[in-house]
Amino acid sequence: MIKEILVKMALSPSKLPGLDYALNPYRGCEHACIYCYAPSVIHWDKGKWGELVEVKVNLPRILSKELKVKKKGVVGLSTVTDPYHPAEKKYEITRRCLELLLMHDFPVCIQTKSSLVLRDMDLLKKFSNIEVGMTLTTHDESVREKLEPGASSVAQRLNALLELSKNGIRTWIFIGPVIPYITYGEALIDAITPAKPEYVLVDKLRLKEGIQNNVMGFIGEIYPHLKEKYNEIFCGNEDFYKGFFENIKKKCDKNGLKCEISKLNE
Ligand code: SF4
Repeated sequence: MIKEILVKMALSPSKLPGLDYALNPYRGCEHACIYCYAPSVIHWDKGKWGELVEVKVNLPRILSKELKVKKKGVVGLSTVTDPYHPAEKKYEITRRCLELLLMHDFPVCIQTKSSLVLRDMDLLKKFSNIEVGMTLTTHDESVREKLEPGASSVAQRLNALLELSKNGIRTWIFIGPVIPYITYGEALIDAITPAKPEYVLVDKLRLKEGIQNNVMGFIGEIYPHLKEKYNEIFCGNEDFYKGFFENIKKKCDKNGLKCEISKLNE
């Protein structure tokens, strides 16, 4: 279900590494990833995540005013929704915000799981400072369908990344969260390598309050044989992620990719 809403603020300060501001054109996200932390961050109390999306229809007008007075800084699109989830096809709020950010020459960092980003190539190419990160948690399309049911396929995302690179846009890949025994790091790195990202950022899954029930419910239902292993990992056994990060670094080295482990892990 889609609901149009009005907002009073566009840019909010961001504490995420590399970002000064967060810009979220929607509340809710049709990608409906089972591990999404956004509902707990925005205190979502409007039913199952993914079923309702609130479209901030006046966001471009508010952003236009703010850009005239805000100090220039990197704008993250987006931090608690996907700027290119399906509603964007019709509403084009992200596109209109990009037009404004371009006009004011603000640096932009896009992160998405959708090939719809290619629609805005004409704008992206005009920015003096822009990068696009594509998130992938698996190389396996049948697993992707379970984890991120509303998002673009693995192939569409990798193709989008390659197209962006070919057009001179800086790209990177976010492997995160790494879902234990479901994200196969080495196979994923092999799948990613032809898309030529500038670097790969890897992050672990944190079972914070609000996410834990979703993830453990999903594991219990689809991968019940993993339940015991998950209990060990998320009760403090650090061996899994230690080994995973070591292996993925080695594999990236072998494939000629720069690899960073998220600083949020420290
Ligand atoms: S794409 Fe991002 S914001 Fe949307 S459901 Fe998935 S994790 Fe959440």
